[in-house]
Amino acid sequence: MDPTPDAFAFSSCPVPLPVGSEITIGHGGGGRLTQDLINRIFRPAFDTDSLEAQHDAALLDFPAGRLAFSTDSHVVSPLFFPGGDIGGLAINGTVNDLCMTGARPLWLSAGFILEEGLAIDTLERVVQSMKRAADAAGVGIVAGDTKVVERGRCDGLYITTSGIGVVETPRTIAPTELREGDAVVLSGDLGRHGMAIMATRAGLSFESPIESDCAPLVKPVKALLEAGLEIHCLRDLTRGGLATSLVELAESSGLSIAIDAVRIPVPEAVNGACEILGLDPLYVANEGRFVCILPEGEAERALKILTDTAPGKSPAIIGRVGSGPAGQVTQRSVIGAERIVDRLSGEQLPRIC
Ligand code: MG
Repeated sequence: MDPTPDAFAFSSCPVPLPVGSEITIGHGGGGRLTQDLINRIFRPAFDTDSLEAQHDAALLDFPAGRLAFSTDSHVVSPLFFPGGDIGGLAINGTVNDLCMTGARPLWLSAGFILEEGLAIDTLERVVQSMKRAADAAGVGIVAGDTKVVERGRCDGLYITTSGIGVVETPRTIAPTELREGDAVVLSGDLGRHGMAIMATRAGLSFESPIESDCAPLVKPVKALLEAGLEIHCLRDLTRGGLATSLVELAESSGLSIAIDAVRIPVPEAVNGACEILGLDPLYVANEGRFVCILPEGEAERALKILTDTAPGKSPAIIGRVGSGPAGQVTQRSVIGAERIVDRLSGEQLPRIC
């Protein structure tokens, strides 16, 4: 790639150095090459006033309300997969964690660990994907950092995002707020993200390819809040899937949760891939699905709102919070048998997000 004249606005050298086609150790040195990378790849894509100010930290006017703050590192392999890539994942991962507190996500930071030899084109694709995801979620990327490590010391690139949001509802939306009799409403079908990655790695192909469900949850959460529903808890179903999330919620609240297998929507291709690989879709990671736990009398309204606003378009009321034994999750199978749903004992799939 040829350097643009603007890229060297801060350079004293009259003859610009070529940026090259791949990341070199010099791109992380804090000197001219680093500046060039920022000017050429990051600033045009993220394009916020804070980055333009080129200060050591972003200065932001915070609206009235409680502040939600979250962080997440992303090491997914491969970097590009059906339905998404590490860039979109890095934005939606943190955006969705903020949403789960009832917050409206406002700003993100992004830290990049780049491996020497990474194609600049690859970085550019990832950064453009981050821009699209940030725009879709309505957040600004207002601070960032880049470091380069030697060849072989990381797998292309890793991205850490941190995010701040504002909680405008006076309600506390948290695992401790679960109450006996609450309904568990699932926002959409399960297992797409994990199986998209796993099928890619295993070289499996299907008639209709499985695409990641990676998506921002800003819209459905905003709609649920604006409807004035008495939401007790929201939880996105990432690593460990629905099963692990429900066990965590049951343990934090000291209550039990019972779910009904026949009500849980799983795409046919996900079911098929799970059978081949010996996996349970309940434990497979999602990146755009969540559960909303609220009083049973409000579950139908939540279901209607999720049908209109949530990615996935197949929400379902899948279970109920009970009074015990504390921390226990049970699942009623298709034939009516009950079994205890446990945490995964190990890692089902490393490097999934
Ligand atoms: Mg989460």
